[in-house]
Amino acid sequence: MKRYDFIIAGGGMAGLSLAYYLSRSSLSDRSILILDKEVKSRNDRTWCYWETEEGPFEPIVFRKWNTVELYGPEFGGPLDIGQYQYKMLRGSDFYAFTKEHLAKFSHIEFRQATINRVKDTPQGGFVIADDQPYMADYVFDSTHALKLNEPQNHNLWQHFKGWVIQTEKPCFDQNRPRMMDFRVEQEGDCRFLYVLPFDERTALVEYTIFNDKLLTDEQYEKPLRTYIDRYLDTGGYTIKETEFGIIPMSDEPVNERPGEHIVRIGTAGGYTKASTGYTFQRTQRYLREIVRNLAADGTPDRRQPRLRKFFKGYLDSVLLNVLQNRRHPADDIFTRLYRLNPPSRIFRFLDEDTTFAEDLKIMSTVPLGAFTVGALDVVRKRIAG
Ligand SMILES: Cc1cc2nc3c(=O)[nH]c(=O)nc-3n(C[C@H](O)[C@H](O)[C@H](O)COP(=O)(O)OP(=O)(O)OC[C@H]3O[C@@H](n4cnc5c(N)ncnc54)[C@H](O)[C@@H]3O)c2cc1C
Repeated sequence: MKRYDFIIAGGGMAGLSLAYYLSRSSLSDRSILILDKEVKSRNDRTWCYWETEEGPFEPIVFRKWNTVELYGPEFGGPLDIGQYQYKMLRGSDFYAFTKEHLAKFSHIEFRQATINRVKDTPQGGFVIADDQPYMADYVFDSTHALKLNEPQNHNLWQHFKGWVIQTEKPCFDQNRPRMMDFRVEQEGDCRFLYVLPFDERTALVEYTIFNDKLLTDEQYEKPLRTYIDRYLDTGGYTIKETEFGIIPMSDEPVNERPGEHIVRIGTAGGYTKASTGYTFQRTQRYLREIVRNLAADGTPDRRQPRLRKFFKGYLDSVLLNVLQNRRHPADDIFTRLYRLNPPSRIFRFLDEDTTFAEDLKIMSTVPLGAFTVGALDVVRKRIAG
C-alpha cells in the first residue's frame, strides 16, 4: 500500500487551496495525494467574498468592485464599503490555476476516484477509494457529509438558483453589483436576488433563500424571471449558464478532528459561517493557519481562543434563531445592519474580526425585541439539549 505524507480527500475549493498553500510553504517537498471523484474543470460555482488587500488568487479574480448595492425596505442604492473590494472568482478559473501550479510538483499526485472510506488507524490516516487502499500521516477530508439534524441546534439552508444572462440591450452598470436585493416576495423567509455584472450586457442573476425547505425548479425560476422583467431593462435575454447551490447555515458543532490523523476541512470541517453561508475566505484563512502550524510544529490544528469562538458562535445562533422562527422580517434586519453601521464594520463582523465593543454597537442596530427573545431561546435550547 502506498504511503504519503498527506492525502487530501476531495480536490474541490478547500482541498486544492490546502495543496496550494502546502506547495508554497516549507512543506513543499512532502508527498501529497489528491483524490476526487470528479475532474473538476467545469465552472460549477462562483465565489464572492470581500478583502482589503490582494489575496493569493488575485491573478484569477474575475471581477472586483469598490462598491455594492443593497435594496431593502426604505432603502435602495450603493453602500460605501470603504477599503474593501467585493470580489468574484469563477470555479473553473480556480481549478485551472491551482492545478496548473500543482502540476509543477512531481510528488503531488492527482487521482480521480470515489472515496468509500476515511478511517483513523494507529499507523496513520487510511483511505479506500475505488477499492484501493492508501495511507498517510494525515488525511485532510473535505468529503465528509454533515448530518445536520439535532433539534437543539438551528439548521437552515441557503439555497439558490441563478442564470448568467446575456441581454439584448446594455442594462448593467459594471461598477455596481447588487449584493442583496430584497424586492421579491419574502413569504416569511429571507429571500433576495443578487446581480453580479460581467459587462453591460452580461450578469449572473441569482435568487437566494434562507429557510429549511428546498424548492422546485419552477419555484426558483419564476421569481428570477419576474425580477429580470421588473427591474432589468434587458430588451430580451438568453441564458448562458445555470448555477444551483445549497449551503448549510447551521450552528451544529462539527468535529474537525475525528481522529489523530484525520482533519476535516472546508464545509465538512464546519468552516461555513453559520449566519451567512460564506465559506471561501474563512477556508483560506483557516487553511493558512493549519499549514503554518503544521510547518512550525507538525500539528495540523487551528488554535481558536475558546471564549471568542463561543461568543461569535452564540451571535450566529441568535440570528439563525430569529430567522428560523421568523421573529422579524429578514429584509428589515439586513437592511438595518448595513444602513445603521458602516458596511465595512459588518464585513469585519462577518469575518469575526470585530472587537467586543464593535459587536455591541452592531447589536444595538438590530430589532431588540426579536433578538432578545432569540437570545433567550438559544440559551433555553442549549440547556434543554
Ligand atoms: C453553487 C455554489 C456557490 C457558492 N458561492 C459561494 C460564495 O459566493 N461565497 C462563499 O464564501 N461560499 C460560496 N459557496 C460555499 C462554499 O464556498 C463552496 O461550497 C465550496 O466549494 C466549499 O468547498 P469544499 O472544499 O468544502 O467543498 P467542495 O468544493 O464541494 O469540494 C469537495 C470535493 O469533494 C469531492 N467529493 C465529494 N465526495 C467524494 C467522494 N465520495 N469521493 C471523491 N470525491 C468526493 C467533490 O467532487 C468535490 O470536488 C458556494 C457553494 C455553492 C455550491
